[in-house]
Amino acid sequence: MIPVVDLKLQYASIEEEIQKAINKVLKSSQYILGEEVQKFEEEFSSYVGGKFGVAVNSGTSALHLALLAAGIGPGDEVITVPATFVATAAAIVYCGARPVFVDVQPETLTIDTTQLEAAITPRTKAILPVHLYGHPADMKPILEISDKHGLAVIEDAAQAHGAEYQGQRLGCMGNYGCFSFYPSKNLGAYGEAGMVVTNDKEAAERLRMLRDWGQSRKYHHDVLGFNYRMDGIQGAVLRVKLRYLEDWIEARRKHAERYQRLLSSSQLGLPVEISGNRHVYYVYVVRSKQRDKLQKYLLEKDIHSAIHYPHPVHLEEAFQDLGYSEGAFPVAEQAAKEVLSLPMYPELRDDQIEMIAEAVQAFK
Ligand SMILES: *Cc1c(COP(=O)(O)O)cnc(C)c1O
Repeated sequence: MIPVVDLKLQYASIEEEIQKAINKVLKSSQYILGEEVQKFEEEFSSYVGGKFGVAVNSGTSALHLALLAAGIGPGDEVITVPATFVATAAAIVYCGARPVFVDVQPETLTIDTTQLEAAITPRTKAILPVHLYGHPADMKPILEISDKHGLAVIEDAAQAHGAEYQGQRLGCMGNYGCFSFYPSKNLGAYGEAGMVVTNDKEAAERLRMLRDWGQSRKYHHDVLGFNYRMDGIQGAVLRVKLRYLEDWIEARRKHAERYQRLLSSSQLGLPVEISGNRHVYYVYVVRSKQRDKLQKYLLEKDIHSAIHYPHPVHLEEAFQDLGYSEGAFPVAEQAAKEVLSLPMYPELRDDQIEMIAEAVQAFK
């Protein structure tokens, strides 16, 4: 059997280091925030090239707090995409603001920047691009348009640790970069965790207050805050795993190259890496007009696959009050019917990729 992801193999390869790191936290009793989390904030923000990292308890919390720090509130509009995980849009609604969707471009399924300006209204406060699957959104036009209209840029980099746009790491090109360390992400905790990265010192201070009950000092609650702090154990685990991240990304990229080579003669649409960018392949997503049949066929051969994501957010039940209907975003809607994520994780073996490619090629 070949799973879509295998987190056990990775744990086995670093078990001793992880046990040591966790034991250290247990003995220190710094179970929430503390030294390990602070060091991880410094190490991860410097890895992505940002000045400040604010560790939180999930990627969703990172998005929520970045939006609040950008001043987003009731009556405001935030432009984002329907081809994403639901958290992107939910975080906007948590602030009382309205997600305004723009369709994605067909090659990378990231925001179609040619449609951006038409979506801007006097209520627009921010653009929230998603670096879907680990490939960068087209940041240059996004930054130009946001500059021109005075909008904040909040990057959903939950799938894009270490990804690069024209030589620059993602997460600090806009005003805020939001990362998730959900266990299956390229850098995954052993529980829930996330981080906001920013180059703005005041914003970082505000984020630190917001994640910890709005406190400037103990029991001085200056603003309405949240219990969004990162656990000490997750900080310690993530510090260990960050040291392996580049190797793991390179392994993913090699696997993608192999898939590409073995599948180039197939009927499938294959992932695209725009020249000058670095795709980190959080998932390896192919496209097929017969997606559901292909998925079933692979499963019969004990090859698991997944769908990221079966419904664009604007068609989800929870977002019906936004008033979008089918046909509003044809590229995102078509993609949701065709995308299939093949097994992808650093420990995947070459012979397994060959087996998967053979099975895909045999499917008629
Ligand atoms: C994982 C993910 C999130 C949410 O992160 P959590 O840590 O699960 O809260 C947000 N956006 C995208 C694109 C994601 O993939």
